[in-house]
Formats: sequence, C-alpha cells, structure tokens
Amino acid sequence: MKGGFASLSFFVVCVVSIILFGCGDAIPSSKGSRTSGAFSKIDDPLPIVRFGLYWDSLVVDSGVIKNGQSLSHLLDPYKVGAGKIATLAANSRNTYEVRDMRAGKRWWVATRRDSLSTPAWLIYERNSIDYVVFSLGDTLGARLGSYPVDTVYSHVKGEISRSLYLDLEEVGAPTNLAVAMAGVYAWTIDFTHVQKGDKFDVYYSRKRVNGNEVGMPTILSCSFNHHGTDLLAYRFDQGDGADYFDPQGASLRKAFLKSPVEFSRISSSFNKKRFHPVLKRIKPHLGTDYAAKTGTPILAVGDGVVIKSAYTKNNGNYVKIRHNNTYETQYLHMSKRKCSVGDRVRQGEVIGLVGSTGLATGPHVCFRFWKNGEQVDHRQEKFPPSTPVRSNAMDAFAAEVRRLEAAAKSIELSTN
Ligand SMILES: [Zn+2]
Repeated sequence: MKGGFASLSFFVVCVVSIILFGCGDAIPSSKGSRTSGAFSKIDDPLPIVRFGLYWDSLVVDSGVIKNGQSLSHLLDPYKVGAGKIATLAANSRNTYEVRDMRAGKRWWVATRRDSLSTPAWLIYERNSIDYVVFSLGDTLGARLGSYPVDTVYSHVKGEISRSLYLDLEEVGAPTNLAVAMAGVYAWTIDFTHVQKGDKFDVYYSRKRVNGNEVGMPTILSCSFNHHGTDLLAYRFDQGDGADYFDPQGASLRKAFLKSPVEFSRISSSFNKKRFHPVLKRIKPHLGTDYAAKTGTPILAVGDGVVIKSAYTKNNGNYVKIRHNNTYETQYLHMSKRKCSVGDRVRQGEVIGLVGSTGLATGPHVCFRFWKNGEQVDHRQEKFPPSTPVRSNAMDAFAAEVRRLEAAAKSIELSTN
C-alpha cells in the first residue's frame, strides 16, 4: 500500500528508581516505584509524584538556567548560604558534579508547604530523560533519577517520490528515521542516489518520555527496494552488540579489500611530510603507492559508483569511486581506464590497469582513500567488523527474524 502508515504503541514497564536520603517528602521506600496518578479517578486522587517526591505537598518554583548562572546564583534568592552550597557541591561530587550544570536546562526549587525556611529540594534536568535531585535540607547531597520511558513501536511503508527524507515525513515518520536508515545501509545504499520508485518498509521503535518521542529511532527490521532489489535488514545481537543482518545472516557491513592490486608491494606510504621524488620538495603524500607491473589489473576495493574517470597532468589516468555516504576511493596513474562515470562497480571488479601516467616515476597505483571528504590513511582506519551471524546463533537469529516480521505485521493488521 503506497503511503500507508500505521503506528501502535506498547507501554513498556516504567521504572522510577527511588533512593532515599534525608527525610521529608520523598516516597517511603516500601512503596517501591510507581508512575504518576494521571490515570486515576477524580474522586480518589493519588498524590502526584514527581522526581520521586510528593509533588503536591511542595511549593515549587521553576525556570531555565541562564547564561553564566551558577548554582549559587540560582539558589541565592532562596537564602541558601554560600557555606551550605559548598557543602552541597562537595557531598554531591560522587553523584553529580555541579559544575556540569548547563545554561538552557530546566530546574525546579521545591519548598515544603508548612515551612517558611529554606527550600528542601532542587531538581536539575540533565537531558530529556535524566535529572538530579539535590537535597537542601538537613542532609545535603544529590541523587540521580530518570523519567519513566515508554517504548513506542511503529511501522511505516512508502515509495520514494521526492527524497527519502520528504517521503518519510509524508508517511508520518520522524525525519531522523532517514538518518537511522542511512546508518543501517551505510555499506550498501548511497542514499544521495535513491531513485523514484524505490520502496521502503521500516519497523522501528522510539523512546517516549513525558509524552514526547526523544532520541534517534531504533530500526528493528527494514526493507529497502533499491533498483528493483529488496535489501532486508534485521537487528540482532549475537552477544557482541546489536548489528544488522540480511535474511541469511550476513552482516550489512562490508569490508574493503586491503589493497587495489593483488601481488603488489607498497612503494610509498601515506605521509603528510613526504619528500617528493619528482618535484624534489616536501609535498604531503595523501595516498598509498602500490608498485606493480604495467598492465596489472586494478580492482575496486568495494562496491560503488564511478564518479570520476579522467586524465589530468598530475594524476594521469585516474578513477574515483563513491562507496557510500562516508567513503570514496581514488586510483591514480593508470595505463588504461576500464570504467566510465556512472558505472556501478562491484568489489574486486577491474576498473583499470597499472601504469605510470601523470606525475609518476614508475608503474604503480597511487591509492587514495577519502572519509567524509578528507583523505585519510586507509591502513590506519578502524573499520567496523563485518562478522556474519555465527553458526551457533543461527537458530536464535531465525527466531528473531520471525518475531520481528510478525511484530511488524501485527501493527499493520491492527490498524488497517
Ligand atoms: Zn602516490
């Protein structure tokens, strides 16, 4: 179904951890954790609990930390003395360093209703999920807390008509789902070149805190039909962190070939301060030279699209390949080019022959590796592993694939 969108949420157990210290308005520990009374009946109101405190027994001020405002500035209107603030900061150090408080973050100062004295609590919101509760009473100190987090599961489908970004927005998905998809398919799809008619089908989850969806979506399973080929991805953790695999259990990440020429030797390494043998001066060498006989095949180190195939005075005959949003590779001094701009090439495919055209003393390939538009030494790069699902985890993987497919489908069926 084109443009179909369905979403269903499940509430996942929310845990507010409550650690008590001092006395006063904190919830007795025997009650453990609970959510707020938002769904209770009006004639039987549950006390409002916020930050692990009985909120309606407190008089609360709130605001946002201003530029240059320190903890003592913040507490100054509440007559909390400098000595007390220093003790508070010292006592809190192992839990939270007060110097890490930042402008733009929210705060609440809570005073007991029956008290005209100094406030009992200061709450500082660290981010959309986490906060710190400072105790300003007899015991000075801090504890960390987190808002209850729901996980919301969604399933979107659509077809590319303008761009992945806009078409996801059209079906009601968060636009950073495009970023998450680009991450999953970083090694297989160049999302700057998706085409009209490509189809996507994504099952993902997001965190929801205080009614707002926060953070990046987590893709659980995904299908992207690109150039008429279905590229499926399933999230699975075989014990070394979650990764994405195709239905056969192969990693969606691909390793690059170690070098573009077989049976070659490195004649010059990547070196930012190299003395150039032809120019006779210091000139950074932003590539790795592989010496081999003229006519030796030069291989694409990874799948990609040829973005340059040309001749220049310095490079001689050269080819540049775009592999994905992050990586490009370039191959210089060819005697002959074997591909043209726009060609899709596979890893290991012959794209040219070794030569010494351009600024070269002998037959070699100057191999240049680009990462995010910058030339880097590929031999120093740490590439993500591309381990497939191990044989002893294949049954668990197959079960997870079935579970994800059923879960995605159930969302679709329940709302159509
Ligand atoms: Zn070189």
